[in-house]
Amino acid sequence: MISEIKNNVLYVDGCNTIELAEKYGTPLYVYSENAIVKECRKLQECFLNKYENTRAAYAAKAFSCIAMCRIIEREGLCLDVVSGGELFTAIRAGFPAERIEFNGNNKLKEELELAIDYGIGRIIVDGLQELNLIESICRQKNKTMDVLYRITPGVDSHTHNYITTGKKDSKFGIPLDDDVIYPAVEAAINSSYVNFKGIHFHVGSQLFDNKSHLLALETVLQLVKNIKERFNYDVTELNVGGGFGVTYTDEKQKSYEYFLDPIMERIIEFSQKMNIKRPAVVIEPGRSVVAEAGVTLYKVGSIKDIKGIRKYVSVDGGMTDNIRPALYQAAYRGALANKMNEPADHTITVCGKCCESGDILIKDGQFAEAQAGDILVIFTTGAYGYSMASNYNKNPVPAVVLVKDGKSTEIIRRQSYEDIISRESTEELW
Ligand SMILES: *Cc1c(COP(=O)(O)O)cnc(C)c1O
Repeated sequence: MISEIKNNVLYVDGCNTIELAEKYGTPLYVYSENAIVKECRKLQECFLNKYENTRAAYAAKAFSCIAMCRIIEREGLCLDVVSGGELFTAIRAGFPAERIEFNGNNKLKEELELAIDYGIGRIIVDGLQELNLIESICRQKNKTMDVLYRITPGVDSHTHNYITTGKKDSKFGIPLDDDVIYPAVEAAINSSYVNFKGIHFHVGSQLFDNKSHLLALETVLQLVKNIKERFNYDVTELNVGGGFGVTYTDEKQKSYEYFLDPIMERIIEFSQKMNIKRPAVVIEPGRSVVAEAGVTLYKVGSIKDIKGIRKYVSVDGGMTDNIRPALYQAAYRGALANKMNEPADHTITVCGKCCESGDILIKDGQFAEAQAGDILVIFTTGAYGYSMASNYNKNPVPAVVLVKDGKSTEIIRRQSYEDIISRESTEELW
């Protein structure tokens, strides 16, 4: 996070957060452009420039809007989308179609048609049924598409209990049963409408241990070897997904090198032994690119001190702008942005304004003494915050402001009440 404290006030990328809250209102998502760019350059330095024939596709689902797509494009990364909406946003931003990859376990026909019309770079196919759908669309449009198969690595959890999301019982990917994966691979190899490039896996999110990636990789390399033996076909691309963890409270964040160097070492060794050209290697970081670049600003309202139990400090947002605490007990750090130099010696529970008891943003956090009107900041909200926002209780989705070197610009305007009902029919019924 590119932040500092001046005169008791939090500054983000040169901007006074109290002034931002006044100018744009609260709740407010604030993203530091310099912080996003720094993360992108880290990827360049320790992966893209270090190893040739590699790509990093930012997972748009972590935070996607036109401005973000433009930053990602400028920084030379590719983009991983998982829906027609994310694809449409990228195209509107002028993102080069050939640098877009499309993931998802149930891509709709309309979404695939959009992707094929735009001529995106890759579709990461989730099964034979989807392959057949892509083929029929390509046949109709007289086009071809580069594809990878997403597999579920299904590492034996009796010997390795690290894998939770890459396990066989999953809605994502193709299970590695011989009678499922090989017919699918054979169909892709023999198709006149798709070019079969290789294999994709994504083992999970917010990881601090490289073992899941490395175990999944072994499974995939074995598959690459089997494809070579069965079909005499050289896989030319491996996509090892994302999942690189970030620090929300006290997690020990690992470097990209920690994850990627052993992966590359293993792939290089494998390729030499197999006497094949080393496949292209693609990663899909989402959270690690944007999480720390974002903070959310709230205004403190109602304060309730339940004697001997807990002190609730309510803010003007909540689970509608950050569902992660309610959805998976995610923990965050916060502070009072106008009292940064005061000792954080009060234990408070920061709750939202939604009609749900689970609408808690920070349980028993340490803050300076809060009063109504204070600006409360929650850190590291850049990933899966705005992108998961909802209109529950008809709360408007907050504005998003991009800051850089003391300048600020609204990249997404706050929803108005009019926006919220704009698609509702006002006709009399029947
Ligand atoms: C969500 C997702 C990512 C990004 O995961 P992060 O944990 O945000 O890095 C990458 N690839 C796929 C297929 C995903 O579903």
